[in-house]
Amino acid sequence: MNFSKLRVALDGPSGAGKSTVAKAVAAKTGLIYVDTGSLYRTVGLYMAQHGIDAYDTEKIIAALPKVDIKLTYEDGQQCVSLCGEQVGDKIRTEQASYYASAVSKIPEVRAFLFEMQRSLAREGGCIMDGRDIGTVIMPDAEIKVFMTATAEERARRRHKEQREKGIEVSFEEVLESIIARDKQDSEREAAPLKPADDAIEFVNDGYTVETSADYIIGLMKEYLGAKV
Ligand code: C5P
Repeated sequence: MNFSKLRVALDGPSGAGKSTVAKAVAAKTGLIYVDTGSLYRTVGLYMAQHGIDAYDTEKIIAALPKVDIKLTYEDGQQCVSLCGEQVGDKIRTEQASYYASAVSKIPEVRAFLFEMQRSLAREGGCIMDGRDIGTVIMPDAEIKVFMTATAEERARRRHKEQREKGIEVSFEEVLESIIARDKQDSEREAAPLKPADDAIEFVNDGYTVETSADYIIGLMKEYLGAKV
């Protein structure tokens, strides 16, 4: 089946399993996986590296023109560089998550990252995950999924992931940060976390990655089948 032009929007709160499932869908279908959270994380990383407070909106906006982000794709893997240097796992720390959530509330930051995401969306053939993909970035995506899971389940996954990466953090800290980010992401005025009216909600509790990925691939097949 030819999935090559399909656009899949995958939104939901942090830790719902979006990136793991999106990677599996990309590997099975040949779509490019675009991780939009990494863009907000990279803007946050720049601010942290330059001693700018996560809530100093004025300074953050003033610094934006110097934030040089480039996205490349190697063997289906997304690589992000900031001012010429690969960010790697530096954007995966709790501090980076905190900064990402704070900077993403600022409309100017969202506007700054908008065109980069839109130009990828225009090319098609991608599964893009984030918070506002189905509502703002790809409102015309063929498939829209809103993926959730309970805060505890999400914290368990994120805690495991971080421990595997050698990041020392307690389960309670991870749970607290997930609850705080959910609140911040869903209550903000600029592109709040909410399902698009035409998104399919999928509660990703207790499924294997394989099952969740196959569910999304099933929706893609159904869409293409209905077109024939
Ligand atoms: O998905 P991830 O946890 O990496 O995203 C980091 C932060 O970036 C989120 O907490 C959210 O505040 C923000 N974000 C966003 N819009 C997106 C993707 C991420 O506001 N499309």
